[in-house]
Amino acid sequence: MSTFSIINPSTEEEITSVEMLSVEQTDAAIARAKASAPAWRAVNPADRARLLRRFSEVVDSHIEELAQLEVANSGHTIGNARWEAGNVRDVLAYYAGAPERHSGRQIPVAGGVDITFYEPLGVVGIIVPWNFPMPIAGWGLGPALAAGNTVVLKPAMLTPLTAIRLGELALDAGIPEGVFQVINGDGASVGYRFVTNDAVRKVCFTGSNEVGRKIMAGCAEQVKRVTLELGGKSANIIFADANLEKAAAMAPYAVFDNAGQDCCARSRILVEDKVYDKFMELFEVAVKGVKVLDPSRDDSEMGPLITSAQRDSVASYVEEANVAFRGSAPEGPGYWFAPTVLETPDQSSRAFRDEIFGPIVSVVRFGDEADALRIANDTPYGLSGSIWTRDLGKALRVARGVETGALSVNSNSSVRYATPFGGFKQSGIGRELGPDALLGFSEEKNVFLSTEE
Ligand code: NAD
Repeated sequence: MSTFSIINPSTEEEITSVEMLSVEQTDAAIARAKASAPAWRAVNPADRARLLRRFSEVVDSHIEELAQLEVANSGHTIGNARWEAGNVRDVLAYYAGAPERHSGRQIPVAGGVDITFYEPLGVVGIIVPWNFPMPIAGWGLGPALAAGNTVVLKPAMLTPLTAIRLGELALDAGIPEGVFQVINGDGASVGYRFVTNDAVRKVCFTGSNEVGRKIMAGCAEQVKRVTLELGGKSANIIFADANLEKAAAMAPYAVFDNAGQDCCARSRILVEDKVYDKFMELFEVAVKGVKVLDPSRDDSEMGPLITSAQRDSVASYVEEANVAFRGSAPEGPGYWFAPTVLETPDQSSRAFRDEIFGPIVSVVRFGDEADALRIANDTPYGLSGSIWTRDLGKALRVARGVETGALSVNSNSSVRYATPFGGFKQSGIGRELGPDALLGFSEEKNVFLSTEE
């Protein structure tokens, strides 16, 4: 049996070590999920709804425990971690309403009656990255279970603790054995087995573009369903007529939240030329005010990066760029990195084009609306973004023009469980969350009944 050591990124100390499953154990878990699928899809809709509601309630009664686990395992601030555990609760509660409403259609045709059914796919494999272990697990498992599928879920090697606990809480809530299993292990062997084992009928992957491409190519072999949620390099577009004070005060949290390890991070700030200097003055004050502290403290606004390797990777971008100003970070143990602002970088530079996945933001000027759109869209990514203006027409024009999946006007929020989330271009394929999420976990079946004698 191999084990993997789990390190607290704030202290660099080992918290625990976890067992890593082998490919044989993964196959056995997938076989259990397959064997459990007929009974789970046969649970009547009201009872499946009741079980999901109970799962949500059990998560609710463990919010603090789950949050503390995430602070220790991932270095998330306690405030964020409580929100993340609450998000799992809310997603389960929201999709508990779905089994009784997942209805097909009756379509007018000649010679009979035509009806459609939404059938579950069978076994769904969910692969989760290390940056948001709880929410991303919930976004897959909630609608997948609601649609009548069984689920095998692989957390990231670095951050498995909350997922393992969610697996236990599901059993406590009465979700039958084999319906939701957490399989901890290495990506290339255990994770990729979800792609190659033909009992898994869909892979729901969130992570890097590099691995996402491999998953998509592998799934093509079996024409396996796949959803990909990949990287981002989103733009925060600030027009001269915006509430500049508010836009500047909130901009640090749009990119430095979770230490910038956020696929929705607005890591490019585009500011209209005529208010650029004023914005930078206000932004500097805001960045220097970000509280980068021990994440277990209630007043902490940003914790450390996940590993020292991640910190080295992030630091490599600063060496090549013009630093305008930086915030602060603690000294001593922990993978700390101070919030960093790069000014007018070369738009073909690595810092302006790559998803850095750390607390670094680039600020550039733009002349007019067309220029803002040109810069915002000059990226292979298209996940999120913000537009700050008081002009409603301009807000809507620009929102329609930006090639991304989840935009906010005069706000930096990206995710609401009741609204769809996902990427344009190389940020992914498919949508999660929102009222239609179950469609991604169902096959539509058409049945014609002849009424002719
Ligand atoms: P990663 O691609 O390295 O790993 C993601 C998951 O895939 C992990 O569980 C890993 O073990 C597994 N994995 C690795 N190689 C695999 C393989 N060959 N086959 C199957 N599984 C494999 O990503 P990461 O470093 O954990 O996460 C950071 C990335 O995730 C960033 O690019 C970020 O933008 C992206 N992300 C996207 C979203 C979104 O919703 N669009 C959300 C969060 C994170």
